[in-house]
Amino acid sequence: MMKYIVGNWKMYPTAYDDALLLVKGVRPIAAKAVTAGVQPIVCPPMPFLAGVTKQKRVSANDKAFEVGAQNCASAHDGAMTGEASPAQLKSMGINYVILGHSERRAVDGFAKESDEVIATKVVAAIAEKLTVILCVGERERDASGEYFKEISEQLAASLDGFPVAKSGQLIIAYEPVWAIGSKATGVATPEDFREVEMLLRRELAAHLGKVRAFKIPILYGGSVSKENAQSFLNIGADGLLIGRTSLDTNAFVSIIKGAMQHK
Ligand code: PEP
Repeated sequence: MMKYIVGNWKMYPTAYDDALLLVKGVRPIAAKAVTAGVQPIVCPPMPFLAGVTKQKRVSANDKAFEVGAQNCASAHDGAMTGEASPAQLKSMGINYVILGHSERRAVDGFAKESDEVIATKVVAAIAEKLTVILCVGERERDASGEYFKEISEQLAASLDGFPVAKSGQLIIAYEPVWAIGSKATGVATPEDFREVEMLLRRELAAHLGKVRAFKIPILYGGSVSKENAQSFLNIGADGLLIGRTSLDTNAFVSIIKGAMQHK
């Protein structure tokens, strides 16, 4: 299976020129990575999507990094001021979109997206032939394993209405909320990932069938660094969703190179 190394730049960097520098730093390794079975994907903020996407191919035959959006609207078009539709993204050469990120789900956050809202976005994005990187993950862990239920319910609700035949357009990112970002309260271990990966496969099989479920890449995300990236790939992660570290070109490239050893 192809491995996916995804950089979620969040609302960084502040300046367009710095975004171009970041992507130009990733470009040289991209063609080699794709040949080695690793797909680098960068997910810049909305205003920089067009410029970053223009950097995708140096020549028409280049295999290259892919570009993902960090969000999209749930409709094809319409009177929705400030939104960006999956059709618009697709028309720019963007093939991926992150949906259900914990920062957008957070009940005390800026977007407060519910599972229901996320599910409608997933369906809309799939209809426009985007590949969805759907984030799921528990807010905290408890000794009695309540978090298994939380994750299962989140996955089921976020996939409500998902067209089963389009499972080839689905990537799951397991992102334990307590291990994400500068406010992380803990560090997830590869074993933590493995345990939830098994749960997710079982749930995906229940929704989409066993054969389809085993073809869906399951990535790990949450404080991935160049020091711990390999340990998650070693235990079987099909890739990584990387926040802060993806803004450090050298570290991001070194993680891509590490993934290339795992072919
Ligand atoms: C993320 O934004 O999805 C993420 C995992 O962030 P970080 O790597 O900074 O924890």
